[in-house]
Amino acid sequence: MRKAKDNENVSKRYYRPTITTCPYCGAPLRRRCTLWSKYLITLEGRFHVFSLGYSCSRARCRPVRVIYRSAEAEQLSPKGSSFGYDLIVQIGRWRFWDHRTLDEIAALLAARHLPVSRRHIHNLISEFLALLRAAQPAKIEAQRAYFKRYGLVISLDGMEPEQGNEMLFVVREAILDLTLVAETLYSSRADLISRKLLEPVKALGFRVRAVVSDADKNIRRAVEASLPGCPHQACQVHCLCEAGAPIFKADRAMKTDLRRDIRAKLRPLSRVLSQSPQADPQAVVLTDYCEGLRDALRAEGLSPFELAGLKLHDELERLEASLRRCQKKGGIPSCLHCSTSRPSASRMPSGTLN
Ligand SMILES: [Zn+2]
Repeated sequence: MRKAKDNENVSKRYYRPTITTCPYCGAPLRRRCTLWSKYLITLEGRFHVFSLGYSCSRARCRPVRVIYRSAEAEQLSPKGSSFGYDLIVQIGRWRFWDHRTLDEIAALLAARHLPVSRRHIHNLISEFLALLRAAQPAKIEAQRAYFKRYGLVISLDGMEPEQGNEMLFVVREAILDLTLVAETLYSSRADLISRKLLEPVKALGFRVRAVVSDADKNIRRAVEASLPGCPHQACQVHCLCEAGAPIFKADRAMKTDLRRDIRAKLRPLSRVLSQSPQADPQAVVLTDYCEGLRDALRAEGLSPFELAGLKLHDELERLEASLRRCQKKGGIPSCLHCSTSRPSASRMPSGTLN
């Protein structure tokens, strides 16, 4: 529960119309009223937002007084909501694209000092889906001529941010990469996929030329029922990810090992370096190497082809070669050599590195 004193130090933001003179007579506009004010949480923080209404300064300019308002203020958040569009979209992205759980999202928001409760996050996810749905008809309409001529090639995929929880199903037009239907389902039953996803696509009135999806049995059954005779291909990305899963898993294990080893060695080294005199040229160079190492440790992978462990391994080898060259020239103490050796690389299953 937020108390009145929590609002004491919230900074204020005032929004005015962009025009400063009357479009009818050219006289300057004058402030008349505050149209609305509310406390708003955006990605930048929490603010007290005021939308100020202006009107013509000449009393008899128009028979009825026209009030001008800031378009920018109206675009900050949905009507009646105390959360900005930017925040809603970010939460939706974390949830469905980055597969974050509610707790993870709460932690991400807390790290930004944004006071959003778990219950609010849950509601904002629903708002995000409503926004996603609301935006689609206009986009589909804009492509009507194209779809009429060439038909649709649709891709159908389900995302499950939390095991056993609701799934977000998205049907996209694969050629133009346009979302046609997005729906949360509590079960992936074939009849539900048919009714909630494929029937709305059919209702758009375009010819469906082909379907792409993973090899999920329910999706296959739903497509057979709703689009009989329509060519249905297994998605190549899904197949490659499945085939590459053992390698990706082994690579991730290697990355974790390497990270743990290097971090443990980096810590005492950074401590020593931070205590050395600032003008020491050696310390400057070594600090750079430490920074390079830390950077390398941040490598992230993407199934099936981007292997973070291998990337990290290569980067460490490069840094080690560079350090050796430095040592040859003289000046770098040899104790550092041990800090970049890679004992864990040998733990990688034989042959995986090739
Ligand atoms: Zn006027």
